[in-house]
Amino acid sequence: MSAPLFRVSPFVTGLRCLLCGTSYGYDSLFTCPRCGDQGILDVRYDYAAARGPLLENLHERPYDLWRYRELLPVSPDHHLPHLQIGWTPVYDVHRLAHAFGLRKVYLKDDGRNPTNSFKDRASAIGVLKALEYGFDAIACASTGNAASSLAGLSAAVGLKSFIFVPERAPQPKITQLLIFGATVLKIRGTYEQAFDLCKEACDAFGWYNRNSGTNPFLVEGKKTAGLEIAEQCRAHIPDWVAVSVGDGCTIGGIGKGLQEMKELGLIDRIPRLLGVQAEGAKPILTSFLTGNDLVPTPTDTIADSIAVGTPRNWRRAIAQVKASHGQMTAVSDGEILEAMRVTARLGGVFGEPAGVAAVAGVHKAVNENIIKSNESVLVVVTGNGLKDIQSARQAAGTEHVIEPNIEALAVVLAHAEKKRSAAP
Ligand SMILES: *Cc1c(COP(=O)(O)O)cnc(C)c1O
Repeated sequence: MSAPLFRVSPFVTGLRCLLCGTSYGYDSLFTCPRCGDQGILDVRYDYAAARGPLLENLHERPYDLWRYRELLPVSPDHHLPHLQIGWTPVYDVHRLAHAFGLRKVYLKDDGRNPTNSFKDRASAIGVLKALEYGFDAIACASTGNAASSLAGLSAAVGLKSFIFVPERAPQPKITQLLIFGATVLKIRGTYEQAFDLCKEACDAFGWYNRNSGTNPFLVEGKKTAGLEIAEQCRAHIPDWVAVSVGDGCTIGGIGKGLQEMKELGLIDRIPRLLGVQAEGAKPILTSFLTGNDLVPTPTDTIADSIAVGTPRNWRRAIAQVKASHGQMTAVSDGEILEAMRVTARLGGVFGEPAGVAAVAGVHKAVNENIIKSNESVLVVVTGNGLKDIQSARQAAGTEHVIEPNIEALAVVLAHAEKKRSAAP
């Protein structure tokens, strides 16, 4: 199906392959016909034309991701989901800055999106594209935040959603899908098999495929976090922006958003990007360090949302990190659990393991003198901690069980105090 052109943002000029550079018109192409699956397409805009309408109207627009509509591949008069997506808060967290020995640490809490993760930014665009192209159903293969976000946003706009999950998908995550009315299909097989069946089913049954790796429009939603960082931090743009990296689409999108705000003149420099992978899933870091093409790896980390062994947006991720003169690093599960505690106890923000992996990465980068003590850092916390209670319990410790009397309480409190003062 091809999109009727009059419904597209007037400032979109077309699509360009990130691999071979060929330009295409704006239609329902998924990947570059020449390069196949490796040829991720990037949406291009006429920034000179978009600048006036965007900057002139920004001050009177609602605070959500649609305020940047000139730079999004959707129709300006589209019926938007009623949910509040984007414009998540940026906190200046003194205690965390002090603990890490940094001038400033800001947390941008994307766990406050409607289904509690950064993925809502992408799904918001996904469901609108599905409607625009005339689909009444949308599908994806995932157990994670992409799926819950798709289920929630589909419910908000009245699309049917079909979610393919592998056999070992955890019950709490399936519950979040089911409550939004998604049809959940548990495949007797691996994630890869679920992924392939989803693709086949989209062709066979005429569903729109929300596949963040190869769908060229979803990253445009993710870039809104970069647009927001520029606008929210305009007067004190941080030296670094730290982001956890799985597929690479999130950091690639944030980098693009920051670049666009510089192009429009809203900020005069781009923060350096720090891309953080898990030790047990770091194919993009390896490729970044060696300069070689990506080699898929097995994965083993508690940060399930960034446990991606075959990332599709690695070129986009590495290109954005390099363009910003940034760095990449990897952190262990132990460091991630520590970051969960520190972010919650010093920052009051509860993130899932992938949500705070970048906090751990910042700590490490400070220790390795990559980030200097006189610098400022903004960390995007990409998902809420209640998403993954099992990991949270590992980080959190245990409660005290006592008899209901004051003597028992006093004994437990004295014991806890002794333990606290003995801690390093
Ligand atoms: C998906 C996700 C990421 C990483 O995004 P990629 O585009 O896969 O790099 C990070 N954190 C959370 C919570 C996520 O759900």
